[in-house]
Amino acid sequence: MSVPDLVARDLAAVWHPFTQQALWPSDDPLVIDRGRGAHLFDTDGNRYLDGVSSLWVTVHGHGEPSINAAIREQAERLDHSTFLGLTHEPGIRVAEELLRVAPRGLGKVFFAGDGSSAAEAAIKIAYQAAVQRGEDRPLYVHCAEGYHGDTLGAVSLGGVELFHATYRPLLIETRMVASPGIMEPGQSRAERAAQVLAEMRGVLHREGERVCAIVVEPLVQAAGGILTHDPSFLVGVRRLCDEFGAAMLVDEVATGIGATGRWFAVDHAGVEPDLMVVGKRLTGGVLPLSAVLVRDSVYEAFLGDAASGRTFFHGHTYTANPLCCAAALANLALMHERGTVARAAAVGERLGALLEPVGEHEGVREVRRVGTMTGIEVLPVTERTGFAVCSAARRRGVIIRPLGDVVVLMPPLAITDGDLDELVGVVAESLDEVLA
Ligand SMILES: *Cc1c(COP(=O)(O)O)cnc(C)c1O
Repeated sequence: MSVPDLVARDLAAVWHPFTQQALWPSDDPLVIDRGRGAHLFDTDGNRYLDGVSSLWVTVHGHGEPSINAAIREQAERLDHSTFLGLTHEPGIRVAEELLRVAPRGLGKVFFAGDGSSAAEAAIKIAYQAAVQRGEDRPLYVHCAEGYHGDTLGAVSLGGVELFHATYRPLLIETRMVASPGIMEPGQSRAERAAQVLAEMRGVLHREGERVCAIVVEPLVQAAGGILTHDPSFLVGVRRLCDEFGAAMLVDEVATGIGATGRWFAVDHAGVEPDLMVVGKRLTGGVLPLSAVLVRDSVYEAFLGDAASGRTFFHGHTYTANPLCCAAALANLALMHERGTVARAAAVGERLGALLEPVGEHEGVREVRRVGTMTGIEVLPVTERTGFAVCSAARRRGVIIRPLGDVVVLMPPLAITDGDLDELVGVVAESLDEVLA
């Protein structure tokens, strides 16, 4: 099938996520045919470096043989069986492996599919646990510029106006504080953290006994534009949660499983959350699998006899699908074997060094980075400057995707030095072209 034919059929039949369909036909649609390592190939055989790890998920690279083999073997043994009232070894083992690397204090794993569906489960768990402890806590505290997914509960706790404002009339009630990652002129990140914590404290002083959870993306508000904050913010949130009896709910869907150079972003702050949501890289970027990790005290609020009504009546048809679990197990085993988390830290260091000249560019407002998670905020020269930079990179064989005026680099954690050098070289040339 030729590329123009496939594009025409796409335009006739498909509606893409986060995509303005009126602009899509003129944005030079690319038809991806295969992937290998850090590269994607289109149907014309052109090779592209996958600079956003297929939207922040690829760990070892595309087509990783041991992950593919694990999925094939699992498919031969057991393709699917419900997790409602039944169990299976791949699911048990993924839970064990997650708890092995998770912050201390987390003792149980509840599976979901996508990041949004795990965030949704965590939101309900935090509320129901409070109810079952006899407390009336229908409120959540969260941050501007936060992103937790696209389902309505997750949108309620979101703070990206462009994505979320439309739905406000439909959402659950929350208290939103400022973003810890947007500094006032001259303000340090530590000062900003203290300021937002003070704002949170004010909210909790007024309504703390009605708040079931404080919800944060630790260290990096990713979809908000790779906004980074000081680790002291997480320490402060933990203290506020303890003081006001709220759960600390951290969304590690973007940051977790190695992206920051540690297994989880909260590890940088030495903070132990009560609920932690993971997704994106869990299967190595191959299949959808997400989970909520919960502290035993939260879990125990759900125990009782059948008449107690304490069951968590929540779950999905494909919860803990065995193929997804097999992929996750193979991914986590490879990560241990190859030291991928340490590798991600080294990739981050190299990225930081390579990007130093980019930070000096007069068209660049700021380069923000934690580990491999990188945002280059450009000064707008046209309506879609970030997009223009990404288009220029595409012409040079690199796929990246902007968040507004922030050019995002999120390479596969195991990217080679050579590929990383190419990525940054192309991005620098593309910035020069667009911002000249
Ligand atoms: C991507 C993301 C989600 C949503 O995950 P999906 O798999 O897209 O549903 C939730 N939280 C954060 C922090 C994310 O980056």
